[in-house]
Amino acid sequence: MFWEKEFETLRRKDLEKLQVDRLKKTINQAMESPFYKELYAAKGITAERISDVKDIRELPFTTKQDLRNHFPYGFLTQPKKEIIRLHSSSGTTGNPTVIFHNRHDIASWANLMARSLFCAGIRDTDVFQNICGYGLFTGGLGFQYGIERLGCLSIPAGAGNSLRQIKLMRDYGTTAIHAIPSYLGRLYEVFQAEGLDPRKDTDLRIFVIGAEPHTEEQRRRIEEMFGVKAYNSFGLSEMNGPGVAFECTEQAGLHIWEDAYLIEILDPETLEPVPDGEFGELVMTTLDRQAMPLIRYRTRDLTRIIPEPCACGRTHARIDRIAGRSDDMFIIKGCNVFPMQVEGVLLRIPEVGSDYRITLEEINGADEMIVEVEVKKDWFNGDIARLEKLTRVITSQIRDEVLAKPIVRLVEPGAIPKGKGKAVRVIDKRKQIATQIQTT
Ligand code: ADP
Ligand code: ZN
Repeated sequence: MFWEKEFETLRRKDLEKLQVDRLKKTINQAMESPFYKELYAAKGITAERISDVKDIRELPFTTKQDLRNHFPYGFLTQPKKEIIRLHSSSGTTGNPTVIFHNRHDIASWANLMARSLFCAGIRDTDVFQNICGYGLFTGGLGFQYGIERLGCLSIPAGAGNSLRQIKLMRDYGTTAIHAIPSYLGRLYEVFQAEGLDPRKDTDLRIFVIGAEPHTEEQRRRIEEMFGVKAYNSFGLSEMNGPGVAFECTEQAGLHIWEDAYLIEILDPETLEPVPDGEFGELVMTTLDRQAMPLIRYRTRDLTRIIPEPCACGRTHARIDRIAGRSDDMFIIKGCNVFPMQVEGVLLRIPEVGSDYRITLEEINGADEMIVEVEVKKDWFNGDIARLEKLTRVITSQIRDEVLAKPIVRLVEPGAIPKGKGKAVRVIDKRKQIATQIQTT
């Protein structure tokens, strides 16, 4: 079952041909923008140089810094009269960047979103509650347009206010939800506090989770808590937002829509392609965007291609769940650590609750990794020996995984403060001191 069978099941050869045609068009379109015009003129680049998808390797990269340096209109290929919307990224890693869309771009994005939702088993008979900020963040309107294009009854609930969210679900018989994974543990706690069981007291059947890194363990936990299937949704503002890559019902990697994006997985150091199946940085080129095409955009997200064909019949490549961003990685006691490694360890331990936080700080002259871990509500009973035993287990399992010994602190459920948007997993107090020194 497909949303657009002719595109989703294109033979690889035909898909690549389509990509080459669209890449040439994209290059010509991009050259209408001040940024690419100057860059490509200086390097003598024209669309004629492209006869194979591999030829993209001759083009220079585009980075977030380029977007910032040419803020706001330097990448625009059309007069403002043609533009109907802008979105800007949430700025998790610095100043925001802005992306502009014309009518075609918005329609194309809505279609990709509908295709993505359909691929995860959502149908026009579903009642879809979008628990996500509406506004400049792409997860609100991006999903909204896709849900409507697919034909679901949409509930544009917005973020926060869990009691209201639960009431909406129960009043209208919500069957599908989109939310960030770190919010769902909290939502479940509110269900419990109200004496409700989402499995019995709602009609929920499908969750779409994404916008932030999460582990397979976290997905499984969400599925068990709510009695639903949870599908991974990946996107980034620079590539529209959600609807870039999505899991199908096989739940074995995310199909990345290759008629709309040309993807490369490169070694982040050498910027050479890694062999198929190996992890590297995802570099993406838009193939169907007019107002603001981006060519060889370095996402900083680390993933790999899953080389085997998918059982669902879609021919578009699958990527593995994002292992982290290259700028998420931190170094502690000489070891390179990704927050998702720590999450993976924690969520395999049944006593561990739904939240955790990593703080890096200097204690008595040594850099330490402090891991605060919420334990499950029914487990927390003040028995010191039990707490100490669990602390030891968590400490040694994290050390085995990341090779650096953490300081583990168990805390009550709800003790870790929660922000409004994406979860902040790591607080690096060492950096704060370093930047303070730099600026004074
Ligand atoms: P910001 O970069 O400010 O967070 P975006 O809202 O554009 O702004 O976020 C895009 C980023 O969010 C991606 O580059 C990626 O790092 C992360 N992300 C989005 N979806 C997922 C997902 N399903 N799994 C892991 N990370 C994700
Ligand atoms: Zn599939």
